[in-house]
Amino acid sequence: MSAGPASAGPVIETLSVSTYTVPTDAPEADGTFAWDSTGVVVVQVNAGGTTGIGWTYAPAACAGLITEQLEPVMRGRPALDVPGCAVAMTKAVRNSPRIGLLGYAISAVDCALWDLKARLLGTSLVSLLGRVRDDVEIYGSGGFVSYSVDQLRAQLSGWVHEQRIPRVKIKIGHGGGTDLPADVAWIRSARDIIGPDVELYVDGNGAYQPKQAVRLMRAVDDVGVHWFEEPVSSDHLAAMREVRGAITADVAAGEYGTDLFTFARMCAADALDCLQIDVSRCGGITAWLRVAAVAAAHGLQVSGHCAPHLAAPVAAATENFRHLEWFHDHVRIENLFFDGTLDPTGGFLTPDFTAPGNGLTLRTADADRYRTG
Ligand SMILES: [Mg+2]
Repeated sequence: MSAGPASAGPVIETLSVSTYTVPTDAPEADGTFAWDSTGVVVVQVNAGGTTGIGWTYAPAACAGLITEQLEPVMRGRPALDVPGCAVAMTKAVRNSPRIGLLGYAISAVDCALWDLKARLLGTSLVSLLGRVRDDVEIYGSGGFVSYSVDQLRAQLSGWVHEQRIPRVKIKIGHGGGTDLPADVAWIRSARDIIGPDVELYVDGNGAYQPKQAVRLMRAVDDVGVHWFEEPVSSDHLAAMREVRGAITADVAAGEYGTDLFTFARMCAADALDCLQIDVSRCGGITAWLRVAAVAAAHGLQVSGHCAPHLAAPVAAATENFRHLEWFHDHVRIENLFFDGTLDPTGGFLTPDFTAPGNGLTLRTADADRYRTG
């Protein structure tokens, strides 16, 4: 017998979307892109007098996709049936495939639904998902190639020497990946700042050709680079595998994945040492759990890309989880927008299992300073 309305719990009454543009605190660039602001799309879902919140980092156009394609199929659905909602969203976008911005849209809604469910049940999101661990390891992430060495020093010192975070990541790819001396100097500067005992990660954002990437790693072999993210474009998995076979640093990618099959192809390509998942892009918490299972079946750990406060609860619930990116821009925005953000001191976050839902409260008046729609 199927569950009737009486046993299905409250239904989704409203789904609202708001958009924001938050200027960066300095010009920022990596090997293939430069920016001076960040778009935020916030979703709030209401059922039974309770509101759940989720978000993604995306252009305002994402809000239109949510309003036009997702909100109509969510309204009236049982709020506790999050997997059913996820299936309904995927089916609803069949004619405008979910790869790309629709994946971001689905992620924001899915995360809001999980938050809502936890709040409706009077528990924390991390308790609802079920903890594998109490603490979620993080790494500081920034080191933009547009920074001066003084800016780099201030940022890395804050993470390493003040907050005692034992892992940091910097951008590389000066000159679009063609200026090897500048990259070598940048990596050496970072090592000088952080000292010998902190793990140093670099992110190429796909700026290099495979042999350029290998030459760079050989030029800094004495520095100790633990992680080389997107040495080449994530679209070129054979080249990624070639780099992986030639260097000692872990090769990582996955930040652009918005559907399960992209992640499955990346895992099967034997091109990675660690699969990155962005919970604000991949399809939300529902998809994260599925992607992590695919990675586990390939013997891979997963690392959370960006949106640290959105990812922390599900990271705590993921067995093959390695660490979460404490990304400068998103940390700043999440602290601007929310009460209840987490303390990174010591290099880990401890999601609050005593607070309802994701533990966050939107400070509407503060966020509205950046609101665009
Ligand atoms: Mg990256």
